[in-house]
Amino acid sequence: MIGKSSRLWFNVWFEMGENMYDVIVIGAGPTGSTAAKVLAERGFCVLLVERHKLPRYKSCSGVLIQKTMDLIRRYFGKDAPLSVTCIPAENKGMIFTDDKGREFRFEQDGLNIWRNSFDNWLTEQAAASGVQVRDSTSAISCEEQPDSIIVTLHGETTYTEQARYVIDCEGVTGLLKRKLLGNSQDFITTFQTFNQGKIQLDPHYFYAYLQPELSEYDAWFNVKDEMLVLGVSVKDTSRIGHFYGQFISYMEVHHGLQIEQQLKTEKWLMPHIRPGCPISYGQGRVLFAGEAAGFLNPMGEGISAGMESGYCAAQAIASHVDSLDMIYADYQRNTQQLKAYMERQWNFVGRMADTFLDMII
Ligand SMILES: Cc1cc2nc3c(=O)[nH]c(=O)nc-3n(C[C@H](O)[C@H](O)[C@H](O)COP(=O)(O)OP(=O)(O)OC[C@H]3O[C@@H](n4cnc5c(N)ncnc54)[C@H](O)[C@@H]3O)c2cc1C
Repeated sequence: MIGKSSRLWFNVWFEMGENMYDVIVIGAGPTGSTAAKVLAERGFCVLLVERHKLPRYKSCSGVLIQKTMDLIRRYFGKDAPLSVTCIPAENKGMIFTDDKGREFRFEQDGLNIWRNSFDNWLTEQAAASGVQVRDSTSAISCEEQPDSIIVTLHGETTYTEQARYVIDCEGVTGLLKRKLLGNSQDFITTFQTFNQGKIQLDPHYFYAYLQPELSEYDAWFNVKDEMLVLGVSVKDTSRIGHFYGQFISYMEVHHGLQIEQQLKTEKWLMPHIRPGCPISYGQGRVLFAGEAAGFLNPMGEGISAGMESGYCAAQAIASHVDSLDMIYADYQRNTQQLKAYMERQWNFVGRMADTFLDMII
Protein backbone atom coordinates (compact mmCIF):
# COMPACT_ATOMS: atom_id res chain seq x y z
CA MET A 1 0.00 0.00 0.00
CA ILE A 2 2.88 2.38 0.74
CA GLY A 3 4.03 3.75 -2.55
CA LYS A 4 0.46 3.50 -3.87
CA SER A 5 -0.36 6.79 -2.19
CA SER A 6 -2.90 8.81 -4.03
CA ARG A 7 -1.78 11.59 -6.26
CA LEU A 8 -4.67 13.65 -4.89
CA TRP A 9 -3.93 12.84 -1.28
CA PHE A 10 -0.20 13.23 -1.35
CA ASN A 11 -0.20 16.40 0.75
CA VAL A 12 -2.19 14.91 3.60
CA TRP A 13 -0.63 11.44 3.46
CA PHE A 14 1.44 11.73 6.58
CA GLU A 15 -1.38 13.15 8.72
CA MET A 16 -3.72 10.37 7.79
CA GLY A 17 -1.46 7.34 8.17
CA GLU A 18 -0.29 4.88 5.62
CA ASN A 19 -3.51 2.99 4.94
CA MET A 20 -5.23 5.90 3.28
CA TYR A 21 -7.24 5.50 0.10
CA ASP A 22 -9.18 7.98 -1.91
CA VAL A 23 -12.06 5.53 -2.21
CA ILE A 24 -12.88 2.13 -0.75
CA VAL A 25 -15.38 0.25 -2.91
CA ILE A 26 -17.32 -2.51 -1.18
CA GLY A 27 -18.36 -5.52 -3.26
CA ALA A 28 -16.76 -6.92 -6.42
CA GLY A 29 -19.96 -7.34 -8.43
CA PRO A 30 -20.49 -5.50 -11.73
CA THR A 31 -21.32 -2.29 -9.85
CA GLY A 32 -18.21 -2.31 -7.65
CA SER A 33 -15.76 -3.30 -10.38
CA THR A 34 -17.11 -0.59 -12.69
CA ALA A 35 -16.92 2.10 -10.00
CA ALA A 36 -13.43 1.05 -8.91
CA LYS A 37 -12.09 0.92 -12.46
CA VAL A 38 -13.42 4.36 -13.36
CA LEU A 39 -11.78 5.93 -10.31
CA ALA A 40 -8.44 4.18 -10.78
CA GLU A 41 -8.34 5.35 -14.39
CA ARG A 42 -8.82 8.90 -13.16
CA GLY A 43 -5.74 8.55 -10.92
CA PHE A 44 -7.44 7.75 -7.62
CA CYS A 45 -6.10 5.28 -5.12
CA VAL A 46 -8.83 2.64 -4.80
CA LEU A 47 -9.30 -0.43 -2.62
CA LEU A 48 -11.99 -2.90 -3.73
CA VAL A 49 -13.02 -5.37 -1.02
CA GLU A 50 -15.05 -8.52 -1.60
CA ARG A 51 -16.28 -10.73 1.20
CA HIS A 52 -16.03 -13.95 -0.82
CA LYS A 53 -13.02 -15.55 -2.35
CA LEU A 54 -12.82 -14.60 -6.02
CA PRO A 55 -14.17 -15.76 -8.38
CA ARG A 56 -17.35 -15.77 -6.31
CA TYR A 57 -20.65 -17.44 -7.18
CA LYS A 58 -23.79 -15.41 -7.79
CA SER A 59 -27.20 -16.87 -8.55
CA CYS A 60 -28.24 -15.31 -11.83
CA SER A 61 -29.85 -16.09 -15.17
CA GLY A 62 -26.73 -14.57 -16.66
CA VAL A 63 -28.38 -12.69 -19.51
CA LEU A 64 -26.45 -9.65 -20.69
CA ILE A 65 -28.90 -7.51 -22.66
CA GLN A 66 -27.76 -5.23 -25.47
CA LYS A 67 -27.57 -2.25 -23.13
CA THR A 68 -25.22 -4.12 -20.79
CA MET A 69 -22.97 -5.06 -23.70
CA ASP A 70 -22.85 -1.41 -24.79
CA LEU A 71 -21.93 -0.35 -21.24
CA ILE A 72 -19.16 -2.97 -21.04
CA ARG A 73 -17.69 -1.60 -24.26
CA ARG A 74 -18.01 1.99 -23.02
CA TYR A 75 -16.62 1.48 -19.51
CA PHE A 76 -14.19 -1.39 -20.11
CA GLY A 77 -13.11 -0.55 -23.67
CA LYS A 78 -13.74 -4.06 -25.01
CA ASP A 79 -16.32 -6.82 -25.28
CA ALA A 80 -16.73 -9.51 -22.64
CA PRO A 81 -14.64 -12.50 -23.80
CA LEU A 82 -16.19 -15.75 -24.99
CA SER A 83 -14.59 -17.51 -22.00
CA VAL A 84 -17.28 -16.02 -19.71
CA THR A 85 -20.16 -17.36 -21.79
CA CYS A 86 -22.05 -20.62 -21.49
CA ILE A 87 -23.80 -22.65 -24.18
CA PRO A 88 -25.60 -21.25 -26.08
CA ALA A 89 -23.46 -18.11 -25.89
CA GLU A 90 -25.97 -15.92 -27.74
CA ASN A 91 -29.15 -14.71 -26.13
CA LYS A 92 -31.68 -13.56 -28.72
CA GLY A 93 -34.03 -11.79 -26.35
CA MET A 94 -36.82 -12.28 -23.84
CA ILE A 95 -40.27 -13.77 -24.29
CA PHE A 96 -42.82 -12.76 -21.65
CA THR A 97 -46.13 -14.49 -21.13
CA ASP A 98 -48.61 -12.22 -19.38
CA ASP A 99 -51.35 -13.18 -16.94
CA LYS A 100 -53.78 -13.81 -19.85
CA GLY A 101 -51.33 -16.24 -21.44
CA ARG A 102 -50.38 -13.79 -24.22
CA GLU A 103 -46.78 -13.84 -25.45
CA PHE A 104 -44.68 -10.70 -25.92
CA ARG A 105 -41.36 -11.09 -27.74
CA PHE A 106 -38.48 -8.68 -27.19
CA GLU A 107 -35.88 -9.57 -29.78
CA GLN A 108 -32.35 -8.26 -29.26
CA ASP A 109 -28.86 -9.71 -29.35
CA GLY A 110 -27.33 -10.39 -25.97
CA LEU A 111 -25.00 -12.83 -24.27
CA ASN A 112 -25.56 -15.84 -22.02
CA ILE A 113 -22.84 -15.81 -19.36
CA TRP A 114 -21.78 -17.43 -16.09
CA ARG A 115 -21.64 -14.76 -13.42
CA ASN A 116 -18.58 -16.09 -11.59
CA SER A 117 -16.49 -15.88 -14.80
CA PHE A 118 -18.03 -12.62 -16.01
CA ASP A 119 -17.78 -10.77 -12.69
CA ASN A 120 -14.25 -12.04 -12.19
CA TRP A 121 -13.29 -10.76 -15.63
CA LEU A 122 -14.66 -7.32 -14.72
CA THR A 123 -12.67 -7.35 -11.46
CA GLU A 124 -9.52 -8.34 -13.34
CA GLN A 125 -10.03 -5.36 -15.65
CA ALA A 126 -10.35 -3.09 -12.61
CA ALA A 127 -7.16 -4.56 -11.11
CA ALA A 128 -5.34 -4.00 -14.41
CA SER A 129 -6.30 -0.31 -14.13
CA GLY A 130 -4.60 -0.07 -10.74
CA VAL A 131 -7.37 -1.01 -8.30
CA GLN A 132 -6.13 -2.89 -5.27
CA VAL A 133 -8.43 -5.90 -4.90
CA ARG A 134 -8.78 -7.69 -1.57
CA ASP A 135 -11.05 -10.74 -1.52
CA SER A 136 -12.24 -12.85 1.45
CA THR A 137 -12.67 -9.54 3.23
CA SER A 138 -15.96 -8.16 4.57
CA ALA A 139 -16.64 -4.53 5.35
CA ILE A 140 -18.42 -4.66 8.68
CA SER A 141 -18.83 -1.03 9.69
CA CYS A 142 -17.99 2.55 8.78
CA GLU A 143 -17.24 5.48 11.04
CA GLU A 144 -17.28 8.96 9.62
CA GLN A 145 -14.50 11.42 10.53
CA PRO A 146 -14.50 15.14 9.64
CA ASP A 147 -12.65 14.62 6.33
CA SER A 148 -12.57 10.89 5.86
CA ILE A 149 -14.19 7.63 6.76
CA ILE A 150 -12.82 4.66 8.67
CA VAL A 151 -13.94 1.26 7.43
CA THR A 152 -13.63 -1.80 9.64
CA LEU A 153 -12.75 -4.85 7.59
CA HIS A 154 -12.75 -8.48 8.53
CA GLY A 155 -10.53 -10.96 6.71
CA GLU A 156 -8.08 -13.19 8.51
CA THR A 157 -8.11 -10.49 11.20
CA THR A 158 -10.24 -7.45 11.94
CA TYR A 159 -8.62 -4.12 11.10
CA THR A 160 -9.42 -0.68 9.75
CA GLU A 161 -8.68 1.20 6.58
CA GLN A 162 -9.30 4.85 5.92
CA ALA A 163 -10.57 6.58 2.82
CA ARG A 164 -12.02 9.83 1.76
CA TYR A 165 -15.15 8.16 0.40
CA VAL A 166 -16.78 4.76 0.28
CA ILE A 167 -18.92 3.41 -2.57
CA ASP A 168 -21.11 0.68 -1.16
CA CYS A 169 -21.88 -1.87 -3.90
CA GLU A 170 -22.81 -4.72 -1.56
CA GLY A 171 -25.71 -5.93 -3.67
CA VAL A 172 -29.06 -7.05 -2.39
CA THR A 173 -28.30 -7.69 1.28
CA GLY A 174 -26.80 -4.25 1.86
CA LEU A 175 -25.86 -5.00 5.47
CA LEU A 176 -23.66 -1.97 5.80
CA LYS A 177 -26.35 0.21 4.28
CA ARG A 178 -28.87 -1.15 6.77
CA LYS A 179 -26.48 -0.41 9.61
CA LEU A 180 -26.04 3.14 8.35
CA LEU A 181 -29.69 3.90 7.62
CA GLY A 182 -31.17 1.72 10.33
CA ASN A 183 -34.07 0.62 8.09
CA SER A 184 -34.93 -2.75 6.74
CA GLN A 185 -35.00 -3.69 3.10
CA ASP A 186 -37.68 -6.05 1.92
CA PHE A 187 -36.90 -8.84 -0.47
CA ILE A 188 -38.23 -11.17 -3.10
CA THR A 189 -36.87 -14.72 -2.79
CA THR A 190 -35.77 -16.49 -5.96
CA PHE A 191 -35.60 -20.26 -6.25
CA GLN A 192 -34.18 -22.00 -9.28
CA THR A 193 -33.20 -25.51 -10.28
CA PHE A 194 -30.70 -26.78 -12.86
CA ASN A 195 -31.84 -29.90 -14.65
CA GLN A 196 -30.99 -32.45 -17.28
CA GLY A 197 -33.92 -33.01 -19.56
CA LYS A 198 -35.85 -31.95 -22.63
CA ILE A 199 -38.13 -29.08 -23.56
CA GLN A 200 -39.68 -27.73 -26.75
CA LEU A 201 -38.38 -24.17 -26.45
CA ASP A 202 -35.57 -22.33 -28.23
CA PRO A 203 -32.58 -22.24 -25.82
CA HIS A 204 -31.48 -18.85 -27.18
CA TYR A 205 -34.26 -16.97 -25.34
CA PHE A 206 -35.01 -16.09 -21.74
CA TYR A 207 -38.66 -16.87 -20.94
CA ALA A 208 -40.57 -15.08 -18.18
CA TYR A 209 -44.06 -16.09 -17.01
CA LEU A 210 -46.20 -13.57 -15.19
CA GLN A 211 -49.28 -15.66 -14.44
CA PRO A 212 -50.16 -15.25 -10.73
CA GLU A 213 -50.81 -19.00 -10.34
CA LEU A 214 -47.16 -19.72 -11.23
CA SER A 215 -45.36 -17.35 -8.84
CA GLU A 216 -45.89 -14.33 -6.62
CA TYR A 217 -43.69 -12.27 -8.91
CA ASP A 218 -42.36 -14.05 -11.98
CA ALA A 219 -41.32 -17.52 -13.06
CA TRP A 220 -38.66 -18.17 -15.71
CA PHE A 221 -36.90 -20.64 -17.93
CA ASN A 222 -33.55 -20.49 -19.69
CA VAL A 223 -30.74 -22.80 -20.74
CA LYS A 224 -27.15 -22.80 -19.49
CA ASP A 225 -24.61 -25.35 -20.71
CA GLU A 226 -27.48 -27.64 -21.75
CA MET A 227 -29.01 -27.48 -18.26
CA LEU A 228 -32.67 -26.46 -18.13
CA VAL A 229 -32.99 -23.71 -15.53
CA LEU A 230 -36.45 -23.26 -14.03
CA GLY A 231 -37.19 -20.69 -11.37
CA VAL A 232 -39.93 -18.98 -9.40
CA SER A 233 -39.84 -15.90 -7.21
CA VAL A 234 -41.99 -15.42 -4.15
CA LYS A 235 -42.70 -12.96 -1.38
CA ASP A 236 -43.55 -15.72 1.11
CA THR A 237 -40.81 -18.38 1.17
CA SER A 238 -43.16 -21.04 2.56
CA ARG A 239 -44.91 -21.00 -0.85
CA ILE A 240 -41.83 -21.86 -2.96
CA GLY A 241 -42.75 -25.58 -3.17
CA HIS A 242 -46.32 -24.81 -4.18
CA PHE A 243 -45.42 -22.35 -6.95
CA TYR A 244 -42.48 -24.37 -8.23
CA GLY A 245 -44.75 -27.43 -8.56
CA GLN A 246 -47.37 -25.38 -10.43
CA PHE A 247 -44.71 -23.99 -12.76
CA ILE A 248 -43.23 -27.40 -13.57
CA SER A 249 -46.72 -28.75 -14.39
CA TYR A 250 -47.39 -25.72 -16.59
CA MET A 251 -44.12 -26.22 -18.49
CA GLU A 252 -44.84 -29.95 -18.93
CA VAL A 253 -48.27 -29.25 -20.40
CA HIS A 254 -47.40 -26.21 -22.53
CA HIS A 255 -43.79 -26.83 -23.57
CA GLY A 256 -43.25 -30.59 -23.27
CA LEU A 257 -40.84 -30.28 -20.32
CA GLN A 258 -39.34 -33.62 -19.27
CA ILE A 259 -36.94 -33.48 -16.32
CA GLU A 260 -34.57 -36.45 -16.23
CA GLN A 261 -32.44 -35.38 -13.28
CA GLN A 262 -32.32 -32.36 -11.02
CA LEU A 263 -28.67 -31.35 -10.67
CA LYS A 264 -28.77 -28.35 -8.38
CA THR A 265 -31.13 -26.00 -6.56
CA GLU A 266 -30.45 -22.50 -5.30
CA LYS A 267 -32.22 -19.78 -3.38
CA TRP A 268 -31.30 -16.11 -3.53
CA LEU A 269 -32.72 -12.66 -2.83
CA MET A 270 -33.70 -9.70 -4.97
CA PRO A 271 -34.66 -6.25 -3.73
CA HIS A 272 -38.41 -5.69 -3.74
CA ILE A 273 -38.71 -2.59 -5.90
CA ARG A 274 -41.50 -0.25 -4.86
CA PRO A 275 -43.65 2.09 -6.98
CA GLY A 276 -41.65 5.13 -8.08
CA CYS A 277 -38.43 3.09 -7.77
CA PRO A 278 -37.03 4.93 -4.72
CA ILE A 279 -33.24 5.07 -4.66
CA SER A 280 -30.97 5.43 -1.60
CA TYR A 281 -28.09 7.50 -2.90
CA GLY A 282 -25.98 7.36 0.24
CA GLN A 283 -25.32 8.49 3.74
CA GLY A 284 -22.56 11.00 4.41
CA ARG A 285 -19.32 9.84 2.80
CA VAL A 286 -20.82 6.48 1.83
CA LEU A 287 -22.48 6.44 -1.60
CA PHE A 288 -24.70 3.49 -2.49
CA ALA A 289 -24.77 2.05 -6.01
CA GLY A 290 -26.24 -0.92 -7.88
CA GLU A 291 -28.73 -3.14 -6.09
CA ALA A 292 -27.58 -1.72 -2.74
CA ALA A 293 -29.04 1.63 -3.85
CA GLY A 294 -32.20 0.04 -5.29
CA PHE A 295 -31.29 -0.06 -8.98
CA LEU A 296 -32.98 -3.06 -10.59
CA ASN A 297 -35.05 -3.48 -13.74
CA PRO A 298 -38.08 -5.75 -14.13
CA MET A 299 -37.50 -9.52 -14.37
CA GLY A 300 -34.41 -8.97 -12.22
CA GLU A 301 -32.28 -7.41 -14.97
CA GLY A 302 -29.79 -5.56 -12.78
CA ILE A 303 -26.32 -5.74 -14.30
CA SER A 304 -26.83 -2.77 -16.62
CA ALA A 305 -28.35 -0.63 -13.85
CA GLY A 306 -25.54 -1.69 -11.50
CA MET A 307 -22.79 -0.78 -13.93
CA GLU A 308 -24.36 2.53 -14.90
CA SER A 309 -24.99 3.62 -11.31
CA GLY A 310 -21.49 2.49 -10.26
CA TYR A 311 -20.06 4.57 -13.08
CA CYS A 312 -22.14 7.62 -12.12
CA ALA A 313 -21.18 7.38 -8.43
CA ALA A 314 -17.50 7.11 -9.33
CA GLN A 315 -17.68 9.98 -11.82
CA ALA A 316 -19.40 12.18 -9.24
CA ILE A 317 -16.56 11.61 -6.76
CA ALA A 318 -13.89 12.06 -9.43
CA SER A 319 -15.41 15.34 -10.60
CA HIS A 320 -16.17 16.93 -7.21
CA VAL A 321 -13.76 15.33 -4.80
CA ASP A 322 -13.79 18.32 -2.41
CA SER A 323 -17.55 18.82 -2.15
CA LEU A 324 -19.87 16.18 -0.76
CA ASP A 325 -22.91 18.27 -1.73
CA MET A 326 -21.77 18.45 -5.32
CA ILE A 327 -20.99 14.73 -5.37
CA TYR A 328 -24.58 13.94 -4.38
CA ALA A 329 -26.03 16.50 -6.77
CA ASP A 330 -23.96 15.13 -9.65
CA TYR A 331 -24.71 11.49 -8.81
CA GLN A 332 -28.46 12.13 -8.65
CA ARG A 333 -28.48 14.22 -11.82
CA ASN A 334 -26.52 11.67 -13.82
CA THR A 335 -28.71 8.75 -12.74
CA GLN A 336 -31.95 10.57 -13.48
CA GLN A 337 -32.32 8.97 -16.91
CA LEU A 338 -31.51 5.55 -15.51
CA LYS A 339 -34.12 5.98 -12.81
CA ALA A 340 -36.69 7.25 -15.33
CA TYR A 341 -35.96 4.21 -17.53
CA MET A 342 -36.47 1.90 -14.53
CA GLU A 343 -39.75 3.60 -13.68
CA ARG A 344 -41.00 3.29 -17.28
CA GLN A 345 -40.05 -0.39 -17.41
CA TRP A 346 -41.73 -1.23 -14.09
CA ASN A 347 -44.78 0.76 -15.14
CA PHE A 348 -44.91 -1.25 -18.36
CA VAL A 349 -44.65 -4.59 -16.53
CA GLY A 350 -47.35 -3.35 -14.13
CA ARG A 351 -49.75 -3.40 -17.09
CA MET A 352 -48.83 -6.96 -18.06
CA ALA A 353 -49.85 -8.78 -14.90
CA ASP A 354 -51.77 -8.34 -11.66
CA THR A 355 -48.68 -9.42 -9.71
CA PHE A 356 -47.02 -6.12 -10.71
CA LEU A 357 -50.16 -3.96 -10.67
CA ASP A 358 -48.92 -1.83 -7.76
CA MET A 359 -45.99 -0.62 -9.90
CA ILE A 360 -48.27 1.52 -12.07
CA ILE A 361 -48.02 5.16 -10.99
C1 LIG B 1 -32.06 -15.46 -9.79
C2 LIG B 1 -31.54 -14.15 -10.34
C3 LIG B 1 -31.39 -14.00 -11.71
C4 LIG B 1 -30.89 -12.81 -12.23
N1 LIG B 1 -30.71 -12.72 -13.59
C5 LIG B 1 -30.17 -11.59 -14.12
C6 LIG B 1 -29.88 -11.51 -15.51
O1 LIG B 1 -30.07 -12.47 -16.26
N2 LIG B 1 -29.35 -10.36 -15.99
C7 LIG B 1 -29.13 -9.29 -15.19
O2 LIG B 1 -28.70 -8.23 -15.69
N3 LIG B 1 -29.37 -9.34 -13.86
C8 LIG B 1 -29.86 -10.47 -13.30
N4 LIG B 1 -30.08 -10.55 -11.95
C9 LIG B 1 -29.80 -9.36 -11.12
C10 LIG B 1 -28.31 -9.19 -10.93
O3 LIG B 1 -27.74 -10.40 -10.47
C11 LIG B 1 -28.03 -8.08 -9.92
O4 LIG B 1 -28.88 -6.99 -10.17
C12 LIG B 1 -26.58 -7.64 -10.00
O5 LIG B 1 -25.74 -8.71 -9.63
C13 LIG B 1 -26.34 -6.43 -9.10
O6 LIG B 1 -24.98 -6.12 -9.15
P1 LIG B 1 -24.25 -5.51 -7.88
O7 LIG B 1 -22.83 -5.38 -8.27
O8 LIG B 1 -25.02 -4.32 -7.43
O9 LIG B 1 -24.40 -6.62 -6.74
P2 LIG B 1 -23.77 -8.10 -6.68
O10 LIG B 1 -23.55 -8.64 -8.03
O11 LIG B 1 -24.66 -8.87 -5.78
O12 LIG B 1 -22.37 -7.88 -6.01
C14 LIG B 1 -22.26 -7.47 -4.69
C15 LIG B 1 -20.98 -8.03 -4.14
O13 LIG B 1 -20.73 -7.46 -2.85
C16 LIG B 1 -20.22 -8.46 -2.00
N5 LIG B 1 -20.49 -8.02 -0.63
C17 LIG B 1 -21.70 -7.90 -0.01
N6 LIG B 1 -21.56 -7.40 1.21
C18 LIG B 1 -20.24 -7.17 1.39
C19 LIG B 1 -19.47 -6.64 2.47
N7 LIG B 1 -20.08 -6.22 3.60
N8 LIG B 1 -18.13 -6.57 2.34
C20 LIG B 1 -17.52 -6.99 1.19
N9 LIG B 1 -18.20 -7.50 0.13
C21 LIG B 1 -19.55 -7.58 0.22
C22 LIG B 1 -20.99 -9.70 -2.42
O14 LIG B 1 -20.34 -10.88 -2.00
C23 LIG B 1 -21.02 -9.54 -3.93
O15 LIG B 1 -19.93 -10.14 -4.55
C24 LIG B 1 -30.57 -11.74 -11.37
C25 LIG B 1 -30.72 -11.88 -10.00
C26 LIG B 1 -31.19 -13.07 -9.48
C27 LIG B 1 -31.33 -13.23 -7.98
